[in-house]
Amino acid sequence: MTRIALLSQRLANQIAAGEVVERPASVVKELLENCLDAGADRIEIDIEQGGSKLIRIRDNGAGIVKDDLGLALSRHATSKIANLDDLENIASLGFRGEALASICSVSRLELISRAQVATDDTAWRVEAEGQEMSTAISPAAHPQGTTVEVRDLFFNTPARKKFLRTEKTEFDRLEEVVKRLALSRFDVAFSLRHNQRVIQHLHAAPSAQEQQRRVALVCGPAFVESSIQIDIEASGLRLWGWVSLPTFSRSQADLQYFYVNGRIIRDKLVSHAVKQAYQDVLFHGRHPAFVLYLELQPSLVDVNVHPTKHEVRFRDGRLVHDFLFRALHKALASVRPQDRLGAETGTESLNGESLNGEPVNGDGVVSAPGYTSVERSAGLTGDFAGQERISFAGGLGSSPTPLQSNQFSSFSSGYSGPVSQQRVAEQVAAYARLQNDEDVPPLGFAIAQLHGIYILAQNAQGLIIVDMHAAHERITYEHMKSACQSEGIKAQPLLVPLSIAVSQAEADCAEQQAEALLALGVGIERAAAESIVVRQIPVILAGADIEQLVRDVLSDVLEHGSSERIRNYQDELLATMACHGSVRANRQLSIAEMNALLRDMERTERSGQCNHGRPTWVLQSLDQLDKLFLRGQ
Ligand code: ADP
Ligand code: MG
Repeated sequence: MTRIALLSQRLANQIAAGEVVERPASVVKELLENCLDAGADRIEIDIEQGGSKLIRIRDNGAGIVKDDLGLALSRHATSKIANLDDLENIASLGFRGEALASICSVSRLELISRAQVATDDTAWRVEAEGQEMSTAISPAAHPQGTTVEVRDLFFNTPARKKFLRTEKTEFDRLEEVVKRLALSRFDVAFSLRHNQRVIQHLHAAPSAQEQQRRVALVCGPAFVESSIQIDIEASGLRLWGWVSLPTFSRSQADLQYFYVNGRIIRDKLVSHAVKQAYQDVLFHGRHPAFVLYLELQPSLVDVNVHPTKHEVRFRDGRLVHDFLFRALHKALASVRPQDRLGAETGTESLNGESLNGEPVNGDGVVSAPGYTSVERSAGLTGDFAGQERISFAGGLGSSPTPLQSNQFSSFSSGYSGPVSQQRVAEQVAAYARLQNDEDVPPLGFAIAQLHGIYILAQNAQGLIIVDMHAAHERITYEHMKSACQSEGIKAQPLLVPLSIAVSQAEADCAEQQAEALLALGVGIERAAAESIVVRQIPVILAGADIEQLVRDVLSDVLEHGSSERIRNYQDELLATMACHGSVRANRQLSIAEMNALLRDMERTERSGQCNHGRPTWVLQSLDQLDKLFLRGQ
């Protein structure tokens, strides 16, 4: 029989390394986190052969005093927490005290450090040898800070080494890690070299403008130019950063950076909230892009959930979810044509500056050609606790005009009724104003209709082309939604109440949520331990499969704690109705009707995309037109 024995230090560390050290990128992540925790503001990263030959990271942080050097390489040794209280209020990126030990056990690692508070003026080198990983310390030369050199990763764990991909793939992953961390700390300068070639060189970015520039360097200038900047605070939570306009979407969810108190995370709750916020405006199957920072009290989030610290658990997930959803939803709704136009000249051109050689507007990006950038340093502020007000702080166009429910009815006749003499006169006057370049509305004045599909309009910058049906559809839809909201959801009792057999958990859930469901027009009662009765439904859902809807709603609530299904379903129906009720192709519109549509677009929330996320209008600026005709070249 085999006897029980303690594992050697190295073997124990190698087992731990299985969880945290998967590939060169994970080594870089751990080492960079240590630099940041040490308060460095300059970090240099040197890589050879995708990281499998060499990873060398030098920082100018606080360093490690000589007496602690041996401990730095041993497992369960950390300077970042000391007791359980600390664990519940973590402000540092590291806290598990096992990264260096793990990395050291599967590579040839050398650490040189000179502490800020050193009593001598030499630096010290530490290495670990043998099965017990005993440390050897010797003097070395080094400025204040720390250099960790990791050579021949996985040289002693051939099974792991076999899983490494090509040099390029490994380097790409590693570079992605550097990007993520670079976006988490604008105050720190980063440089990254691969096989002696400079790949990234990012200066510290203290000002808002420099931060925007770093985001453009890391995510590509097209992202910054097609996104809005937000900064929203409510109930002790703050969300700020950049979110893409719905017309800038990607085929992959790859341009999505979400930080919680400076730590990048991937989280189902966050993805769900973001997805929901974009739901109404994003082209089916596409993904939004964002760089977002959530800040909250450290004690409200548990970071000790996963060895790689990629996941977190929010103490009040529901609050965070609702906050994210509302903040993003409102921000996207407030985008008006005038926000996208206007500041074209004020924005510094960032074209072609992506250091990693990625095309500026890669394949995965759908971006309407005419979209122009807007200087959005003003940011977005809001207050959810109070009036749910959100406005652009710095005069980015007028604040959203609230839609009155009666606008809906007057609206539907807006484009088909006879055009009065007075309206024609108004248009003529408006056109004259355009000639004089004063008072031109953002989307300009209509000049013609093309093939019964597009409206051509002239504004201050050039030519606006509007997809008539798409624009009208969005406007009708938004009007119907707000009419629905302001008048409340009309409900009707079912002539024959519908009883549904459900599980006990679902019945409990229905009982608990009865009030919330009633607010959405759905009246449910519990009939028995495993049965519920639906007595009332929203009028608009009269023809729907109520049993299926109720089942889906209950399973949503059980899984996510909330369900948007009724509202979504309602929105879907409204969207279909809007689509059928909107101007079809080949309808001749008068100039006055076209102008009325343009003015409505300027007023309506989310009017930049149709209900399917396609753009409703584009701008061809005079500059772009001049280029087409090689004018002035
Ligand atoms: P953790 O980061 O979880 O504490 P690590 O194994 O990554 O564990 O590091 C162990 C300790 O070594 C840290 O707590 C820190 O005190 C020290 N250390 C590691 N890297 C650095 C560095 N670049 N600068 C200063 N101290 C460092
Ligand atoms: Mg660490």
